[in-house]
Amino acid sequence: MKIQNYINGEWKEPSTGQFAPVINPATGETIAEVAMSGPNDIDEAVQAAKEAQKQWALVPAPKRAEILYKVGMLLKERKEQLARMLTMEMGKVIEEARGEVQEGIDMAFYMAGEGRRLFGDTTPSELKDKFAMSVRVPVGVVGIITPWNFPIAIATWKSFPAIVAGNAVVWKPAPETPIMAQELARIFEEAGLPPGVFHVVHGDGPTVGNALVEHPDVKVISFTGSNEVGRMIAEKCGRLLKKVSLEMGGKNAVIVMDDADLTLAVDGIIWSAFGTSGQRCTACSRVIVHERVKQELERRLLEAVKTLKIGNGLDETVKVGPVIHEEALQKIDRYVRIGVEEGAKLLVGGYILREGDYARGFYYAPTIFTDVTPNMRIAREEIFGPVVSIISVRSLDEAIAVNNSVDYGLSSAIFTRDVNNVFRAMRDLDTGIVYVNAGTTGAEIHLPFGGTKGTGNGHRDSGVAALDVFTEWRSIYVDFSGKLQRAQIDTDD
Ligand code: NAD
Repeated sequence: MKIQNYINGEWKEPSTGQFAPVINPATGETIAEVAMSGPNDIDEAVQAAKEAQKQWALVPAPKRAEILYKVGMLLKERKEQLARMLTMEMGKVIEEARGEVQEGIDMAFYMAGEGRRLFGDTTPSELKDKFAMSVRVPVGVVGIITPWNFPIAIATWKSFPAIVAGNAVVWKPAPETPIMAQELARIFEEAGLPPGVFHVVHGDGPTVGNALVEHPDVKVISFTGSNEVGRMIAEKCGRLLKKVSLEMGGKNAVIVMDDADLTLAVDGIIWSAFGTSGQRCTACSRVIVHERVKQELERRLLEAVKTLKIGNGLDETVKVGPVIHEEALQKIDRYVRIGVEEGAKLLVGGYILREGDYARGFYYAPTIFTDVTPNMRIAREEIFGPVVSIISVRSLDEAIAVNNSVDYGLSSAIFTRDVNNVFRAMRDLDTGIVYVNAGTTGAEIHLPFGGTKGTGNGHRDSGVAALDVFTEWRSIYVDFSGKLQRAQIDTDD
């Protein structure tokens, strides 16, 4: 299968004529080839988007939304088929792939509802016979750049609000996961989205991603990915005075207090640390545990890890799939060596699986370190693999301080039965998302998604907050007095 660009409603060869292999991380097999485009392809898409957007913005928002309802229905009909393809290109286990497609379905229906809202404000004027209101207006052409770990969900978080608000979208997906991008473009087409409103241009970051960021007709960049790349994009957008929304890395912690339900805590930690093989921005990579229950928690975690079946995610009994590629395996392994050198104690795992069926794919053993201190690199840097570090503390205050001591601020969780602990944690954990008696993953699409500090730059995906990225506010004053009324001056007093 050759995956082409989708520009102005047509499937097109990249102008470079070049393609790269797409590898199934579970088997090492090449399952497709993806276009490796050049800046010309971005320019072609942006020009077409610019033209199409003018008409699209004039379509009444409830009508625009009807297309999203159809997109939602098509995603629903194809959920199983899409999930299987997703597992094959990205590696996450099939149950999680179904969950990811479901996020897209939820987002379609939620954002379609926005077609009948897109609320602004009406407000009294300070003058007689004058009306005041604010409305959301589309920004124009939106550039979307996404990572490989959620190949369809993140694209829906960004493109659905952009499209319902009247923008046109040019999307550069991660080159590792282009199949979901192709499927989403097909679904938009079948749902009746006019040509030119949604484009997919495949290719690498430094060439194609960069051309999108620097294109003068792209008014907003919405990026999800690593801090390193996000920072670079933000610098460029800063110089160009371009709006940029960044969703980046995490170093998320689960706090386990001495009164916690440990069975529940273990379930939450295992799911958040090893689901998607730890390759979620919200993955739990630190467990901050009260010293009184540390030993018991470790014992139970060890028992639970032993039951995890590792393998090809298409097998329904597998709980931990492969990581994305060899480079990721090597990076995870490097961090594990660093942890050992730093003096952390390896409780379980800590190696690449190379035997038998594992030989062709990219598998890392679920890994737990203990006796980790908050200043170790494994406790501060994003590893993006199935590695979790246990840090012991003596109080809730200390737990919160450790949680907040990293550069990231995406997600955090606390397991406790004490309502006072709960409310203090809700107030003091410095992350964009806080879970109580649940792991660090599990966001729902109608609330804002994103983080504080180094995780982002203040914007949010999901919820109504996403509309702020893809719209400008216009304030409108209508004076029906028939005379010049000067604000702040021609008042009665
Ligand atoms: P990445 O930063 O390497 O790549 C992300 C995207 O940026 C890809 O499409 C890539 O091709 C593109 N890119 C790379 N260099 C570029 C450049 N110079 N200019 C423009 N675009 C460029 O990230 P990744 O490895 O694909 O994904 C993993 C990262 O994503 C992790 O750090 C993870 O935490 C983060 N992530 C964050 C969230 C969130 O919502 N906060 C969600 C998922 C993943």
